[in-house]
Amino acid sequence: MARIVVTGGSGFVGSHVCARLVERGDDVTCVDNLSSGRLSNVASLARNDRFDFVRADIVIDIPVDGDVDGVFHLASPASPPDYLAHPLETLAVGSTGTQNTLELAQRCGARLLLASTSEVYGDPQVHPQDETYWGNVNPVGPRSVYDEAKRFAEALVMAHHRAVGTDVTIARIFNSYGPNMSPADGRVVSNFITQALGGEPLTIYGDGSQTRSFCFIDDLVDGLIALYDSNETGPINIGAQNESTVAELAERIIALTGSSSEIVAQPLPADDPKVRCPDLERASRLLGWAPKVDIDDGLRRTIEYFRRDLNL
Ligand code: UDP
Repeated sequence: MARIVVTGGSGFVGSHVCARLVERGDDVTCVDNLSSGRLSNVASLARNDRFDFVRADIVIDIPVDGDVDGVFHLASPASPPDYLAHPLETLAVGSTGTQNTLELAQRCGARLLLASTSEVYGDPQVHPQDETYWGNVNPVGPRSVYDEAKRFAEALVMAHHRAVGTDVTIARIFNSYGPNMSPADGRVVSNFITQALGGEPLTIYGDGSQTRSFCFIDDLVDGLIALYDSNETGPINIGAQNESTVAELAERIIALTGSSSEIVAQPLPADDPKVRCPDLERASRLLGWAPKVDIDDGLRRTIEYFRRDLNL
């Protein structure tokens, strides 16, 4: 049993991490400023004695007293519309927020897991992406607020590790989906499901030939916890390899929801990566982890969640 701080613990990924840690007997302090996280994601945990919620902006302060054994640093806007709407806050949480979180970990002798992202690979020229690839990021494009914040956070975490010995690990999280996604976060899975359930047209950006690979949240959390529990520093990719085009994903969601929605084209956002799929060899060899949930099963469970959440 340990005491773990989860920054961004009310978000989509954070809320599942909090739930899993509480379930295995850890004491969890969730720190969130609710900028994109939602209290409803942790409402059922709030009744548990092992769970604490602290509303705070980690850029300003992390008001957590006492001993801490581990930190899952997940706080950041993560969907493109969210980080594009909050560019300065995204850069601040990736830099100053990460600095404050590292200082907490160092002060307590805690292990820190940084939630990094496949966006560090940018619009990749290596496919699939393995952890030795340095990426292809436009440093002045609109997405750079997220990509460079996470690249800086990786650099900061490694510098802390090398300079003062802070125990750290880096997870590079690829596209993920599942219950507790916000219906309004603008990501492709949440958009397509809410559009299909609401009888609205599904909005494909560009010609829909760009690819993504989608990891169900339960698999992602298993991977993050396996990495946290290991002695590895990383970075290690955590994701799934079911690569498909965005157009194929739209067809799949229309079929699974039984929707009669049409598909419409909308402009492709600037610097939208053309392909994305993780190389998972490192995760499998070093953590003994691989995703298990089939995409249709995961999407069915996510569709059920949105039906209930939106009363559709
Ligand atoms: N996308 C789309 N329609 C939408 C939302 C997103 O076609 O309503 C595309 C987007 O342009 C990208 C892919 O789906 O190519 C994944 O987008 P998302 O925002 O989920 O995550 P990203 O991988 O871009 O961070």
